Amino acid sequence: MAIDLRSDTVTKPTEEMKRAMVEAEVGDDVYGEDPTVNRLEKLAAEILGKEDALFVTSGTQGNQVAVLTHCVNGDEVILEEDSHIFNYEGGAVAALAGVQTRTLASDRGTMAPDAVARAIRGVNIHNARTRLICMENTHNRAGGAVISPEQMEAVYKVATSKGVGVHLDGARLFNAAVALKREITDFTRYACTVQVCLSKGLSAPIGSVLAGSREFIQEARWWRKKLGGGMRQAGYMAAPGILALTQMVDRLEEDHQLAALLAEGLRQLSFEVKPVETNIVLVHTERAGMNALDFLSRLAEKGVLAVDFDENVVRFTTHRHISEQDIRTALQAIEAILHA
Ligand SMILES: *Cc1c(COP(=O)(O)O)cnc(C)c1O
Repeated sequence: MAIDLRSDTVTKPTEEMKRAMVEAEVGDDVYGEDPTVNRLEKLAAEILGKEDALFVTSGTQGNQVAVLTHCVNGDEVILEEDSHIFNYEGGAVAALAGVQTRTLASDRGTMAPDAVARAIRGVNIHNARTRLICMENTHNRAGGAVISPEQMEAVYKVATSKGVGVHLDGARLFNAAVALKREITDFTRYACTVQVCLSKGLSAPIGSVLAGSREFIQEARWWRKKLGGGMRQAGYMAAPGILALTQMVDRLEEDHQLAALLAEGLRQLSFEVKPVETNIVLVHTERAGMNALDFLSRLAEKGVLAVDFDENVVRFTTHRHISEQDIRTALQAIEAILHA
């Protein structure tokens, strides 16, 4: 079987998750009658330090529902230029929310607070209304980079002092909390709303949660329905989500250790590797004398899978199905490519 380092989304549910799915108590969630979904939403709200939460089909749906709920047509949203919302959601903020995007450069995913302050438009008949700022933590394209609570606080203060909302794309926020050994609420307190994925390193098969104020989530529920996200006996999917939040967070540390091991091995082979803070390793392929796609096809022949991130950059992502031996095997495969 291939050593699949393409993404932490390839993780399959645990045996306990599968049992919880089969045994879940369910009802019609569009009527608010699915006890397992209700339990997941209450638990997620508590863990994330918000009044309420909403179970959504995917991280993308969570982010899009958030933008739709925060904004009206023609508003402006400030996004980090390498963010998932801007790059990997099919242009949905334009297509669905009808918002104008303003992108800012960053230092490893962290936007400078003074740049954010300058980007917020004054209230003037000529201007779009700056309604929302989105942060992403950990930051995928920056290589799983962690934004510290203090860095988030600085941006949050700038935004909220000017009446601008803050949404956190926390697809991998638990990785940030584990990496810094901080509480998840140390991060979420600096966002009005937050989306976290249950289906990445946390291993649930499906879904994300969006958390925020009671009033916000009430409105978000309406947008989720419009997007076709009103699910019926969704408790079968919420049950593994509960286990994701209660049992799968601490083990993310193991993924981080394996990513560090992989990065160290690559550096020993003289590859240029971006700083590794969590479970993502970005490596330049020039050392192998080839571009990312050629490198990936050589690697795939040897049973190791990863994804291209740039013409000459490959991303490896560690997760629950990867062992220390897999990392050693992958490094041997890479070394063999160098010597071929
Ligand atoms: C994966 C991811 C998402 C979207 O999640 P899906 O469930 O794949 O839609 C959003 N933001 C970031 C940073 C992600 O890595």
